[in-house]
Amino acid sequence: MQLWRIGDVVITKIVELEMTGGTRFVLPQATPEACRPLDWMRPHFMDDDGRLKMSVHALLVQTPSRRIIVDTCLGNDKQGRAVPRWNNLQGPFLNDLVAAGVPRESIDTVLCTHLHVDHVGWNTMLVDGRWVPTFPNARYVVSRTEFEYWRDQRELAEQVTVFADSVQPIFDAGLVDLVSTDHHVCDEVSLVPTLGHTPGHVSVRVVSRGAEALISGDFLHHPCQLAHPEWAPAVDYDPRRSTETRRNVFAGLAGTSTLLIGTHFAGATAGRVVRDGEKFRLAV
Ligand SMILES: [Zn+2]
Repeated sequence: MQLWRIGDVVITKIVELEMTGGTRFVLPQATPEACRPLDWMRPHFMDDDGRLKMSVHALLVQTPSRRIIVDTCLGNDKQGRAVPRWNNLQGPFLNDLVAAGVPRESIDTVLCTHLHVDHVGWNTMLVDGRWVPTFPNARYVVSRTEFEYWRDQRELAEQVTVFADSVQPIFDAGLVDLVSTDHHVCDEVSLVPTLGHTPGHVSVRVVSRGAEALISGDFLHHPCQLAHPEWAPAVDYDPRRSTETRRNVFAGLAGTSTLLIGTHFAGATAGRVVRDGEKFRLAV
């Protein structure tokens, strides 16, 4: 199991799915021809043919007083997902939490960086034909802007289904805290607005004893966007804004000791942002 220590905080990666290639629908500009010259992406983030490696994982953030899970992947038993492989998953995610020493009942906070399908799945689980909260003792912390946007969304059929099976049940159970995009979660953990991918998207900053990490969420999906901040995923709500966010965040991180932990980064998953001429790259 991969983990990182940020001062007194331990961040553990719980993997649900990993994939190589097939990323055309997320990052259409990131063709093998365009990516192959980015040597620094091998072997963690790209194979020898220039095909991108990606991951769907949750990040457990354990502070001296809190047990937080950031993003809850796809979930088991879900239906109506646009990506066929994401339907009716039967993965060992809950057992993996137990193996990490953090059974689901012990989680006190769930942070969703945004409410897309691959970030809310394990908010709920299927019990006797009903979707019930997977983390019954947790507060689920969601940006108010994000919640209200998807609650009122009627055009994207998949997202209406996702809201119904993975968000509405936790709201109905009274477990949701709607917060600002710069919400302070606890001494070590706070939200940072990184808008554009969705209207209320946030990243998660962890600071302890002078060490710092930033959990990305989906303001970027893959390290190749460090070299090409203008590569906006087809699913970005506001591509101009998301590009501006990437440029600003990368410039702020470059040359610092802050660890960037990618929500969809495969392999090493985390690294430091460094300048690379006019662009940036990830040093692992
Ligand atoms: Zn995602």
